[in-house]
Amino acid sequence: MSDTSAEAGNAAPAWHALPAADVLGRLETTDRGLTEEEAGRRLERYGENRLPRERQRSPVLRFLAQFNNVLIYILLAASLITMLIGHFSDAAVIAGVVVINAIVGFVQEGKAESALAAIGRLLQAHANVLRDGSRREIEATRLVPGDIVFLEAGDRVPADLRLLSARGLEIEEAVLTGESVPTCKERGDLAVEAPLGDRANMAFFGTMATRGQGQGVVVATGSATEIGRIGRLLETVQTLTTPLLRKIDRFGKLLTLVILAASVGMFAYGTLVASFSADEMLLVTVGIAVAAVPEGLPAILTIALAIGVERMARRNAIVRRLPAVETLGSITVICTDKTGTLTRNEMMVERVVTADGMFAVSGSGYGPEGEVRALSPDASEDGGRDLLAQIAAAAALASDAQIHEGDPHWHVAGDPMEGALLAFAHKVAVDPATVREARSRVDVIPFDSGHAYMATLNDLGGGAHTIHIKGAPERVIALCGYERTAEGDRPIDGACWHDRVSELADLGHRVLAIALRPEADPHGLGHEHLPGAVLLGLVGISDPPRQEAMEAVAKCREAGIAVKMITGDHAATARAIGARFGLVGDRALTGADLDAMDDAGLSEAVAEVDVFARTTPEHKLRLVEALQARGDVVAMTGDGVNDAPALKRADVGVAMGQKGSEAAKQVAEIVLADDNFASIGHAVEEGRTVYANLQKSIAFILPTNAGESMVLLFALFVGLALPVTALQILWINMVTTVTLALALGFEPGEPTTMQRPPRPPAAPLLSPFLVWRIAFVGAIMTAVSFSLFLWGEARYGLEEGRSLAVNAIVAMEAGYLLNSRSLTGSILNRKGLFGSPYAIGAIGLVSLLQIGFTEWSVSQAIFGTASLPPLAWAMAVAAGFVLLFLVEGEKVIARRVRRSRRPRGGAPARSLASPRSAP
Ligand code: ADP
Ligand code: MG
Repeated sequence: MSDTSAEAGNAAPAWHALPAADVLGRLETTDRGLTEEEAGRRLERYGENRLPRERQRSPVLRFLAQFNNVLIYILLAASLITMLIGHFSDAAVIAGVVVINAIVGFVQEGKAESALAAIGRLLQAHANVLRDGSRREIEATRLVPGDIVFLEAGDRVPADLRLLSARGLEIEEAVLTGESVPTCKERGDLAVEAPLGDRANMAFFGTMATRGQGQGVVVATGSATEIGRIGRLLETVQTLTTPLLRKIDRFGKLLTLVILAASVGMFAYGTLVASFSADEMLLVTVGIAVAAVPEGLPAILTIALAIGVERMARRNAIVRRLPAVETLGSITVICTDKTGTLTRNEMMVERVVTADGMFAVSGSGYGPEGEVRALSPDASEDGGRDLLAQIAAAAALASDAQIHEGDPHWHVAGDPMEGALLAFAHKVAVDPATVREARSRVDVIPFDSGHAYMATLNDLGGGAHTIHIKGAPERVIALCGYERTAEGDRPIDGACWHDRVSELADLGHRVLAIALRPEADPHGLGHEHLPGAVLLGLVGISDPPRQEAMEAVAKCREAGIAVKMITGDHAATARAIGARFGLVGDRALTGADLDAMDDAGLSEAVAEVDVFARTTPEHKLRLVEALQARGDVVAMTGDGVNDAPALKRADVGVAMGQKGSEAAKQVAEIVLADDNFASIGHAVEEGRTVYANLQKSIAFILPTNAGESMVLLFALFVGLALPVTALQILWINMVTTVTLALALGFEPGEPTTMQRPPRPPAAPLLSPFLVWRIAFVGAIMTAVSFSLFLWGEARYGLEEGRSLAVNAIVAMEAGYLLNSRSLTGSILNRKGLFGSPYAIGAIGLVSLLQIGFTEWSVSQAIFGTASLPPLAWAMAVAAGFVLLFLVEGEKVIARRVRRSRRPRGGAPARSLASPRSAP
């Protein structure tokens, strides 16, 4: 035991000051990791590795917040005043309606928030650990002290670690120390006094690895970690809002103020000019204010948003930042990775090429069974086989992945491409584990898309060392001075190899070159040690396209969205795969081409070319900027730590949930749970649907408000009895309208959702058409309810007339709800009328409420309603149908006008980087 002073009591030892071996000893672990069994026991003892959540507002506070609204203040004040002047029942009704409204708002908001929280939990971080001596990926919450963890660039450090090895490892510790420049990490012991920021042999929970790789042992998890101890909370809760909703909210507040000012004016007019009594006028004024203010709107828009986010999550697109939901509907270009996003990332070695000839490899998945067959007659069987085994061994040494026999298939832990190489090794009777054991790794240059290869320095025993290299063929061939044949090494014929690469790439194969450098410097590995290597051969790896992704690409292009493939792969491979997706690949540009272009040239090229190959993350950034400069709204996918700037810059950054680094996920707006392009397509579709539902909700709610207030105003100025009393208005507004409008939040996308061009980002939510629709419907509601009131009053009496007017308004709302399921499309078909269980359910519920409201003696006493004879009921229902048919008639005309405005051929204005019509 060492004599560290920090050991007093139960305090954790100063791990940074202990030699690595002591750390392992104290944590009762070894460099082979814990056993699963022991890890399970420790998990029980130490608990899950997570930080406490940010405390949420208490339910009581959330309920009280529902009352924090100007209109509610007014209503409460009105209730108080009516009570003071002796109208106790009116006061009670107003207060009751306010409370019901708050309860409804509270429940809905709670549902929306819990939906979001559930989505947040889908974004579980993972960690690569060594358990029972083999590497596997587990949920980061299951880490326990003593686990050996692998770190690489892009990982978020999953717990507090004492580093056991580090290579070029740099970690950004801003969350902990505030220092945003990454610190270099290395193994080695430090003085006990070393402050947190200087503990170079430690990696802390929540910090981000930006370069290199390393390995460490977990010394603390959850709240026992440094970040947990300082109590800074990482898991924050999102608020349910977007810029658009905030804008509507502000608009609503302004509208409320204007209406209140107008109401005060009206109160003055009523009492001074029209000589109503003040207490009569008070209720009328409150009624008009309530009628005019669209109080349910913000809540309904929030619900529509939450439902959209939930739907996206169900379709594998997890929204990290809510404003993205809005932006999605405006996307004009999607820039996507190839490997794993358009393709399945299920790799298999199908071809191997040596200096002597080509071989075909059979098999399925990552299983070890398969045949290797010489395709060229001059490939000598025996010498050829030996060379294949050398390729397999070198490939196994220069990779990190492992393959495991699983149920029912073999699977990979790590990079699927490396998995494919390991499966191939088995097929030529090379066992990767044995080879790796016999030639232990001394040093490594990790793969990076910048240099596009990976190299390792291995100890062969007896003082001999060899460097093994695998990577992009152009890069590796350039490092090689020799090529290996069955007969021995000879100077390399570069041109010939490049032909062989093209041959494989044209098949759509991902091509990798394998090389080795004998007689290496045993002390360390750098890029400068690689030149003069011996090329062993090429492997061609298949990675079939995803069927769903192909369909999604076609669908996006139909929706006026251009799709660009941006890959680090070889141009010929990219072209071949791009062609399968209908992308224009005849002019694939490479990263080198892009470097040679100026901004003007790039701006032109970016609109015309669909396939970009051999790019680095820096090129992605340039491409995003070039597209945005053309006015495009860009979604960009990415997975690596270096993709973060491009993801950040893009209008919608999309990170891969499975193979993506934590660094990419943190800056992304959306994370794809399945890494699949099809999910981006779904997200766009749902984004457009959310926006449409917002518009539909507004188009539904505003005319009702306009209609109600116009009825009251008209009556007031003409000096007639009010067709609807203030309390009845309250009822319509706060009970029925909200119930009906909620159904629109659940509307599924219309079939035309993905046949329309993207929405211009600057397009106002309240389009001129929407304003017209609101005025049109508002006018009909006013006219019909007013006429029915006059008819009913003359025929049956005042209270019956009012009851009829209220029921007519609600029936018209129900009819208009069905209209609103599509802004311009006809709903006069089975799907339109009966297709939404929510709409039907809401209409059914509201019908029952109206019958009770009208016929029940208690409600008659409260609201001043009266029973209606069948004829009057029939008139109310007829009013609903009249509005329904009038609006459908208006849609027919609107569709005609739209069509005549659009040029023949129907191509709407679309993205500047216009997708060519699919072949
Ligand atoms: P992609 O867009 O296909 O994901 P990458 O940037 O990941 O492209 O890879 C670019 C090239 O680098 C690949 O075509 C391959 O030749 C090489 N490469 C990819 N992964 C590795 C790896 N783990 N080790 C060595 N070389 C690799
Ligand atoms: Mg990749």
